[in-house]
Amino acid sequence: MKFRIKESFLNALYPRCCPICHQILKEQNWLICPKCEGELKPIGEPRCKKCGKRIFYMEKEYCQDCSRREHVFDEGRGIFDYDERMRASLLKYKDGGRREYGDFYAQAMIRYGGIDLRRWRPQAVLSVPIHPRKKRIRGFDQAGYLAKVVAEATGLPLCCGYMRKKSVTSAQKSLEASIRRKNLKNSFEGREGDWQIRRLLVIDDVYTTGSTVDAVSEEAKRHGVENIYFLTVCIGRGD
Ligand SMILES: [Zn+2]
Ligand SMILES: [Zn+2]
Repeated sequence: MKFRIKESFLNALYPRCCPICHQILKEQNWLICPKCEGELKPIGEPRCKKCGKRIFYMEKEYCQDCSRREHVFDEGRGIFDYDERMRASLLKYKDGGRREYGDFYAQAMIRYGGIDLRRWRPQAVLSVPIHPRKKRIRGFDQAGYLAKVVAEATGLPLCCGYMRKKSVTSAQKSLEASIRRKNLKNSFEGREGDWQIRRLLVIDDVYTTGSTVDAVSEEAKRHGVENIYFLTVCIGRGD
């Protein structure tokens, strides 16, 4: 089973690169080169039962973070470890003009998160909102793109304009978790009224402490959502 995409005339102008080694892909309908595909493994068991983070000895059912703190979301998982190569990959995707990497990330989320998706049975997909100013600078909405591809592939409706980011909360990773949570609280604003969605899938690129997904979940719950699940490309420690 290969990660593939339909070849388009654009590939001749802007050749697709491998999201891990960043070489131009020999076959332009590939999403990742065979070598990197063989090496890049999704996080398997044992995983945290709440956030899906890889768990180590001493930790039992939940990761250290989840056993310390109650989350607002119900359950979720990140597909890959947030290690050096994935950090570099995501950086190129977000700020290095390699938007085609998003197609690989989204397919990986669907493929490796498929069992969870069938169990969760979400009714709609929402991406973690980006502040308009940040979107202008970056030129695109990195989580929004992933959510769009996931929605298209699963046939689930995409929540467009359901939530917005009110303030820019940058440099989150350099902050203490408690300050980070405080900063994020009330930084998302949902569209008024009951959304008529009971089970929602939230999409983002990276999960670290879960404070972002929690803040989005809190706001979604205010609009009638009962169960919130998340899928992210990567998951790991934030430092
Ligand atoms: Zn490669
Ligand atoms: Zn966890």
